[in-house]
Amino acid sequence: MDFELPEEHRAFRDTVRRWIHAEIPKSWARDLERDEHNYPFALWDKFTAAGFHGVGIAEEYGGQGGDVIMQMLLARELARPLAGLAWIWGITSFAGSKSIGIYGTEAQKKKYLPLIATGQLKAAIAFTEPSGGTDLLGSMRTTAERVDGGWRLNGEKIWSSSAHVADYLLCLARTDKTVQKKHQGLTLFWVKTSTPGIKITPLAKLGMRSMGSCSVHFDNAVVPDEDVLGEPGRAWYTLLPTLNNERIMVGAFCLGVIDGVLEDALDYMKQRHAFGKPIGQFQILQHYVADIATMQTTTELLLHYCAAKQSRGENVGNEANMLKLTASDNANKAADLGIQIFGGMGYSAETDMQRYWRDSRLWRIGPITNEMVRNSIAENLGLPRSF
Ligand SMILES: Cc1cc2nc3c(=O)[nH]c(=O)nc-3n(C[C@H](O)[C@H](O)[C@H](O)COP(=O)(O)OP(=O)(O)OC[C@H]3O[C@@H](n4cnc5c(N)ncnc54)[C@H](O)[C@@H]3O)c2cc1C
Repeated sequence: MDFELPEEHRAFRDTVRRWIHAEIPKSWARDLERDEHNYPFALWDKFTAAGFHGVGIAEEYGGQGGDVIMQMLLARELARPLAGLAWIWGITSFAGSKSIGIYGTEAQKKKYLPLIATGQLKAAIAFTEPSGGTDLLGSMRTTAERVDGGWRLNGEKIWSSSAHVADYLLCLARTDKTVQKKHQGLTLFWVKTSTPGIKITPLAKLGMRSMGSCSVHFDNAVVPDEDVLGEPGRAWYTLLPTLNNERIMVGAFCLGVIDGVLEDALDYMKQRHAFGKPIGQFQILQHYVADIATMQTTTELLLHYCAAKQSRGENVGNEANMLKLTASDNANKAADLGIQIFGGMGYSAETDMQRYWRDSRLWRIGPITNEMVRNSIAENLGLPRSF
């Protein structure tokens, strides 16, 4: 049993860490996030220049290669200063390079992966619908019907993050209503956002502000056959392995938030004085940071366990759910303690604790709620399905 990262991964992490230190200070990330209406193209361009969009894409398609452990390390390091804005990299990495890289045809890989790797294509995920995200399949109203040479999409999606700037949407739609089970008869579409009949509208929200999360209306939008991903009608089976990968990415983002919270809290406890001494001398605040550090280590262990298992090709479904639950609860709790340690300044837009709290609050809800994750964990213990 080896808990140490191999040399190759440590070297990658150290290079990324140095780059982040030089290129994306927290103060810059704070200013970017504050602006609800402007997508941070400058951040996207920095990722392009650093080659991050190519991580996880095979070299033959213009990427840098790299396994799930490298993805995890990059996600963690990015989230330390960026918190939720790390999704700016993560969404396209998941919706584009992971999805097309895993279940795209050779022609789709050749066409799209080099564009993604070089930062020329942004993608967004359009799964959730207004009638419900937890019962995603039961609530799905978006349909696609066969037309000559393609499929005609109608319906509405909600919360599609960065859809307003995306070139393509990874969209799930019902293509067969006659099926017996709701996970059957679904198809994945790679939808060009400039297709006539698509309307995308950003929504106001609590955190991850400048990233933009949008409603998407499809009104007779036609997707050509060549942009169907995987086998029509079998999208759910295709998607399942990538959903575990998404949970690992979320675990890594949450750990990056805990890293950011801990380093800011320790700094502040040295600088800030009360009753003639640094506040870091008060035992209760020491207990708070001890709790944050413990959350950091427990999250890290579970994250590395899941990533190592997935990189060996083993099934990681149950553990990835446990990771998502633990990591998101820990990150949000850590940020809450961070706000308490900062006192009034923790509530101020001038410091990052409020941003860590707002952004990590989402990860208890999406991409799957922690209630639903608990349902699955309980079912894995042999209990009857509760929903
Ligand atoms: C900022 C933001 C960004 C997002 N980005 C994206 C994106 O890019 N793409 C995308 O497709 N989606 C995205 N989402 C959607 C997200 O995945 C959903 O919000 C999430 O899956 C929950 O669905 P819901 O909001 O419809 O809640 P609901 O499904 O309505 O759930 C409401 C409550 O009921 C509980 N509940 C429901 N069923 C059960 C059950 N069986 N047992 C116990 N409790 C239950 C839930 O846990 C929750 O507490 C985003 C959401 C937000 C807020």
